[in-house]
Amino acid sequence: MIYKYRTKSDELIVFEILDKRSDLQGKDKQYFLNLLKGYEGEVLFDSLTEQLQSDCLVLNDLLLEVNNTIFQIDSLILIDGKINTYEVKYLEGDYLYESNKLFKKPRLEVINPILQLSRSESLLNQLLRNHGCQLPIDATVVFNHPTFTLYQAPLHLQALLPTQINNHMKTLDSIPSKINEKQKKIAELLVSLHITKSPFTKVPSYRYEELRKGITCEMCDSFDVVTEGRTCLCRECGHRESVSSAVLRSVKEYQMLFPEGKITTNLVYDWCGGIHPKRSIRRILSTNFMNVGVNQWTYYV
Ligand SMILES: [Zn+2]
Repeated sequence: MIYKYRTKSDELIVFEILDKRSDLQGKDKQYFLNLLKGYEGEVLFDSLTEQLQSDCLVLNDLLLEVNNTIFQIDSLILIDGKINTYEVKYLEGDYLYESNKLFKKPRLEVINPILQLSRSESLLNQLLRNHGCQLPIDATVVFNHPTFTLYQAPLHLQALLPTQINNHMKTLDSIPSKINEKQKKIAELLVSLHITKSPFTKVPSYRYEELRKGITCEMCDSFDVVTEGRTCLCRECGHRESVSSAVLRSVKEYQMLFPEGKITTNLVYDWCGGIHPKRSIRRILSTNFMNVGVNQWTYYV
């Protein structure tokens, strides 16, 4: 059973908005694409753990701290009196394993995630010990991109290759596990200790003036959206959405980028590219937010 679901990080959401409303370049663009790809791989792995039938607790995406060190666990499964942790690596293409090193073929050394497992294993161990509850931990790297190949993989590698993942899930499902109070307590503890705001963020600086204004299609992100009565129509993919839902979605994007910014009719009018009359924006805001102030000083919370 899924005990903690994965959600997109604020960092990824902000990057997605910046990617469509500005021109991300160089290392920012690369970082964003890696972030997006990592998330895609994790969601793909979730689609398998979601199907587990045995009595277990699945906790996705934990950010934890112990002794001033922050560490992340992509997926954690409490099953059969132990803890399985998974580090998901969505690497594409051919890789080579040699002397505990990982190379992208032909010969580009990349960080070997398997060597980092013992670090996160020991940090999780310390954290549980500090709270007086310990269980054996089994940490594994999951290489789940369908095109991933690992040449010269040692026999007993703490990793699952694409062709081994389904069997691993079947093995988990064949365990006659029964979740007990101790395991439930550990799940509760880990969720309560989860850090929701990551201190590590590589979002580049941005200014309101530099961002592209307008309403984007919720399906395809196109700015080619026109209004027909109370409906927004995307001329790119044909998707329709009510004006009020499209405006509110745009307000949410603004709030993600500028959490301190005041929501006013004029601001939302400008942010939506001036395609909706101010009176319609005022109506949408006053129905969905609370008014503060009067007349031209009104803002919405
Ligand atoms: Zn569209």
